[in-house]
Amino acid sequence: MLKLEGLSKTYKTGDAALSDVTLTIPKGQIVGLIGPSGAGKSTLIRCINRLVEPSAGKVLLGDVDLARLGKTELRRQRRRIGMIFQEYALVERLTVMENVLSGRLGYVPFWRSFLRRYPGRDVQQAFRLLDRVGLMHQADKRADALSGGQRQRVGIARALAQEPELLLVDEPTASLDPKTSRQIMRLLTEICAERDLPAIVNIHDVPLAQQFMQRIIGLRAGEVVFDGTPRELTENV
Ligand code: ADP
Ligand code: ADP
Repeated sequence: MLKLEGLSKTYKTGDAALSDVTLTIPKGQIVGLIGPSGAGKSTLIRCINRLVEPSAGKVLLGDVDLARLGKTELRRQRRRIGMIFQEYALVERLTVMENVLSGRLGYVPFWRSFLRRYPGRDVQQAFRLLDRVGLMHQADKRADALSGGQRQRVGIARALAQEPELLLVDEPTASLDPKTSRQIMRLLTEICAERDLPAIVNIHDVPLAQQFMQRIIGLRAGEVVFDGTPRELTENV
């Protein structure tokens, strides 16, 4: 479970990008963050894993306040959070398998030499994840030979290889066509349900959010202006 308490961010150069955000995301819930450009969606996601330093407030993942940790402990705790990105952030010249293994290991292995040394559990886990995202037969392909939808599936498998307790997902479909976007959102929501995994998805596409998210949080000028179900959103607008 993730709990934000009074989370705020003011960048050195400007006004408050995030003001006093308090919310709880229970296990298994997939939450879509919507709002106009500049509303604070990226800032919110980045304050959770501290790519941006919050100015005030708590980020409680279970019992641990991530906002309060020193560097070494932060590095360890970040492994509990899986990240999925708009532009996938794969290592393009390496294989699908190498990219997925890097999620588990925290570094990028060369998988043939890796297999020789450790033929065991990490590779089996990676194959299971590739099977789940529909890429079992692409393990040896280079990431740069894949389509956008396939790349995002690798991104999802890599995040899951960490065995995270939370997924942070930043515009996962912004580079994909509408049909592929729906397939990716369906896969993400099914996986969160299967694993009882909470997720926050920064999603610029409101109809897509309404179709797939259980809960939608609307941000405007750094404040939560809506928090409810897709149906409530429709009734409100
Ligand atoms: P969104 O993701 O909803 O588009 P952001 O979180 O990127 O919104 O931005 C929220 C506000 O913070 C905006 O006013 C933006 O200009 C400002 N902002 C974002 N990043 C920085 C930064 N690194 N330095 C200064 N201001 C920033
Ligand atoms: P196929 O169905 O074509 O045999 P799979 O998609 O099951 O292939 O697997 C792709 C390749 O990876 C195969 O060569 C298979 O032997 C190998 N492989 C599958 N699972 C593992 C594993 N746990 N450890 C090492 N190699 C594996």
